[in-house]
Amino acid sequence: MSEDHIKFSCLRCGICCMASPISLLPHEVLILNDLAKLYNVELRFVEGYSIYDRVSSVNIVLTYHMRLGKNGKCPFLSRKNLCLIHDKYKPLICRSFPYTIKSINYYFDPLSKIAFHRSSYTVSLACEFIKKHKEILEPYFKDEIFIRKFFNDEVQYANLMEKYRSMYLLALSYLWRLGYVDLSSDARKDRPYVNAYIFIRRYIPYFAIKPY
Ligand code: SF4
Ligand code: SF4
Repeated sequence: MSEDHIKFSCLRCGICCMASPISLLPHEVLILNDLAKLYNVELRFVEGYSIYDRVSSVNIVLTYHMRLGKNGKCPFLSRKNLCLIHDKYKPLICRSFPYTIKSINYYFDPLSKIAFHRSSYTVSLACEFIKKHKEILEPYFKDEIFIRKFFNDEVQYANLMEKYRSMYLLALSYLWRLGYVDLSSDARKDRPYVNAYIFIRRYIPYFAIKPY
């Protein structure tokens, strides 16, 4: 069998829902909190990448991590290994898997008061489907054209996630230039943490990110 004869098809093994905490954008935390009430599940989030605003003396959280439950699984994973929120709102990081984030670098230019980021992606070898076809597929993982074709939907969701990440940084850059914030890349552990979506909307009430 060659790579032309294989199509990505999730095996629904649920392995990716037990592998590690789930990385979320700020607005996704709010959506999942609403869904948690609907499904009566308990969620715990940990602040991930955060930046410090010297004007309001708070850390602005740009990434959260949703913790796995005591059973080592995502709280939204059903007993039958199905995602309870698949049809309601499945996080972008889950939609894009196994095309997944390798690194994110954030840049802050205090002179022009611009914040931006660059992300790079890879194919996760933790995925059962990828493991099954690893020998055939792995040689093509550096071929961008192949990746875009093979993981068409997953790449689109990853692109959407990066577009939203850029929107957060663009809005914060705008506030920085107007003097409403003074950003520093170093979060301060002794200061409170505020969800970036909530923070930005205090100044720009029309800032909205529509779920896909
Ligand atoms: S939200 Fe759904 S797809 Fe994502 S880790 Fe949880 S159960 Fe899996
Ligand atoms: S590990 Fe791969 S095959 Fe298994 S549920 Fe996740 S995406 Fe599907």
